[in-house]
Amino acid sequence: MGSELIEKVMQAARDHEFECVGYAPTSKLVVRPEVRDMCAADKCHSYDRNWTCPPACGDIEFFQGEIDKRDHCVVFQSVGQMEDDFDLDVMFDTAEDHKDRIPDFIKEVREYVDDPLFLLMGACTICDECAYPDEPCRFPDLAMPSMEAAGLVVSDVCKAADIPYNHGPQTIAYSSCVLF
Ligand code: SF4
Repeated sequence: MGSELIEKVMQAARDHEFECVGYAPTSKLVVRPEVRDMCAADKCHSYDRNWTCPPACGDIEFFQGEIDKRDHCVVFQSVGQMEDDFDLDVMFDTAEDHKDRIPDFIKEVREYVDDPLFLLMGACTICDECAYPDEPCRFPDLAMPSMEAAGLVVSDVCKAADIPYNHGPQTIAYSSCVLF
C-alpha cells in the first residue's frame, strides 16, 4: 500500500502540471538549525512577519517531530525555460504557476492522505499583506510553511529525491514537497 500511495501522490503532482516530481524517504531528510538561523537573519524580509515563517510557524524541534511522524516525501517542481539568464518574466511566471497549482493539489492529496505535511516554496503570499500578528491566518487550510522554515535545505531535499535542484542553463525551478 505504501508504494501505491507514493505513486498516487506522485501522479497527482504530475496531473497538476508540476514538471518534475521525485521521491525520498523522510529518513533522508536532514533538519539543520543553520537554515533557521538564515531565516532569523531576515534576508527575505518574512521573519516574524508571516504566520508560516519563524517564529510563528513553530520551532525546529516541532518540525523534526512532524517529519519523524511521516515516512514519505514527494517533491514537486515547476520548471521554467528562460530566453536568457535575466528573463524575469519567466522567473515570475514560473513562481506564480507554482503557487497557482498548489491549492488544488493540496485538496486532492487530502482526499486520500491522512494528515499530509506540505512544505512549500518560500513564505506564504496568499494575502497581499499577512494578518500576522494581529489577526489569525485568513486561510489556515492553504497557508503552509516553507521547506526552509522546517530547517530543510531545498537542494538537499531535491538530491535525496533524485531530481535536479538546478535544471541547467537558462532554466528556473521552484520546489515544494509533501510528507506523509
Ligand atoms: S494566508 Fe494570509 S494570513 Fe495566512 S499566512 Fe498566508 S499571507 Fe498570512
